[in-house]
Amino acid sequence: MKGKCIIFSAPSGAGKTTIVHSLLEREKRLEFSVSACSRAPRVNERQGVDYYFFTTEQFIEHIENEDFIEYEEVYPGNFYGTLKSEIERIHAKGNHVLFDIDVMGGLNLKKIFGEDALSIFVMPPSIEILKERLIKRGSDQPETIQKRIEKAGWEMQFAVQFDIIIHNHDINEAKEEALKLVLDFLDIKNNPIS
Ligand code: 5GP
Repeated sequence: MKGKCIIFSAPSGAGKTTIVHSLLEREKRLEFSVSACSRAPRVNERQGVDYYFFTTEQFIEHIENEDFIEYEEVYPGNFYGTLKSEIERIHAKGNHVLFDIDVMGGLNLKKIFGEDALSIFVMPPSIEILKERLIKRGSDQPETIQKRIEKAGWEMQFAVQFDIIIHNHDINEAKEEALKLVLDFLDIKNNPIS
């Protein structure tokens, strides 16, 4: 079996990570691609589980060694990237890779993997609701939230370049829609492993 890729991109706070976690619980052949990043861990985030947390210097060293299949400075001073070794690790186990990645990174990966990838954009109901969700989440400082909101409008312009857009008005509906799309793509719709 050739390993496939599922790419989820969205503005921060659109519900992408919640959808990704739900898919990982429900389809065991999907494995999360742990990205590297140079921001500090949030409370409850674990090294090597949520991210490989690098210092900026370490991150730059990996760029210079060409260890990344893609990377972006997603927010000024904060680098995020996908290590080539992470994809190789997951495919070697016979699993499909699930990416939670920013919009530019998502489009870049779709270009690289082509037909072997399904790219999905999660669209929030509105910028106002996105802001409310980010404030409620409580994991970022007000100035970080402001930066994320400013970026969201710009990111939403790229939604049409993805294979599919999921409109997240209701998180449970969005999760079901995502599962169906992914299983259809992987062609294993009648046989999900529980
Ligand atoms: P957060 O700081 O909220 O965890 O993530 C910020 C953004 O960076 C999110 O949109 C997330 O999907 C994105 N991101 C996470 N990993 C990667 C990666 O490997 N490459 C790129 N380009 N973006 C990533």
